[in-house]
Amino acid sequence: MPPVDLGIPSIPTPWQDATLPPDRPATAGLVDRYGRVATDLRVSLTDRCNLRCTYCMPAEGLPALPKDSVMTRAEIARLVGVATRELGVRQVRFTGGEPLLRRDLVEIVQDVAALEHRPEISLTTNAVGLDARADALRDAGLDRVNVSLDTLDPDTFATLARRPFLERTLAGIDAAARVFDLVKINAVLVRGVNLDHAADLLAWSLERGFELRFIEQMPLDADHSWDRSAMVTAAEVRELLGRRFALAPDDEPRDGAPAERFAVRSLATGERLGRVGIIASVTEPFCADCRRTRLTAEGGVRDCLFAHDESDLLGPLRAGASDAELADLWRTAMWGKGAGHGMDDPSFTQPERTMSAIGG
Ligand code: SAM
Ligand code: SF4
Repeated sequence: MPPVDLGIPSIPTPWQDATLPPDRPATAGLVDRYGRVATDLRVSLTDRCNLRCTYCMPAEGLPALPKDSVMTRAEIARLVGVATRELGVRQVRFTGGEPLLRRDLVEIVQDVAALEHRPEISLTTNAVGLDARADALRDAGLDRVNVSLDTLDPDTFATLARRPFLERTLAGIDAAARVFDLVKINAVLVRGVNLDHAADLLAWSLERGFELRFIEQMPLDADHSWDRSAMVTAAEVRELLGRRFALAPDDEPRDGAPAERFAVRSLATGERLGRVGIIASVTEPFCADCRRTRLTAEGGVRDCLFAHDESDLLGPLRAGASDAELADLWRTAMWGKGAGHGMDDPSFTQPERTMSAIGG
């Protein structure tokens, strides 16, 4: 009997083997079952940080990810390229951990700014060391910066961040204000620590033309000490600020932005002083209008900060997946996004990963 050529056996790679959800439509973008479309990508560049904010990290820090499990500059550019070219992502924000700890941050921004479908590029940072790099980041193509600052009091800063770095943060903010058109400040209020500093922080931000946003504390701390009944709510922040300023809902459409914005006026003269935002992730969640997709520092897609699992893209990328295959894995990951984070539900469980590890 003549020999029969059986050909070379083809072993499907794990990502090719994954079964597609039968109900996932063949759309180009990152659509989920509830009809939301993600166009806003957050990329965590590192899990490491030089601060230890009590609501984010434990005092002793977290075990660092092995270096070779973190995305390289080239891998970041490749995945952001897939997101912008194939999946309709329009905005990219670099975060962490502390993104300024990446020595190649300027180059990463440069690579993303050079993409054919260039997204708007922004950075969330604690600003320690930003003074030395703000010009280079702007020249590389960074469009906007958000800086986290919870208080102007050095001792309170050292209590909250567990590092005495207020001056360094303020130097970074000064540099950002000189270099970028719009600087936003993010503040988390913690009862018994900096709640009384909220109005001063707003006055300071208004004087400098910064847009301050208060973020409700979410259960993403490593110590698992978050307590719903003790957290400072958006309603409380509005009431507190209202004692010193007149707040009125802002006219501009919210357009998927997480912050509810208020026009701020002087109580005495009625003069318009600027704007403030309040991000009520816990008490007034905006999940129905969420447009976010996230990449962890290890190249995993997270459809929500509170998701309990992630879909790995870095493994397939390193194993030779094509852009089209990576895009399809990303679409499948986002198709499974839940309706909401359920923080107010008694059955809610905190994800294992902390804010610094996911990328806030
Ligand atoms: N290290 C950078 C910084 O602090 O801006 C970027 C990463 S940090 C995780 C991003 C944002 O998440 C910061 O504005 C921080 O205040 C916020 N954040 C961290 N833990 C939080 C929590 N448990 N609840 C609410 N916001 C939190
Ligand atoms: Fe670091 Fe930012 Fe977390 Fe503070 S909030 S510990 S600066 S990652």
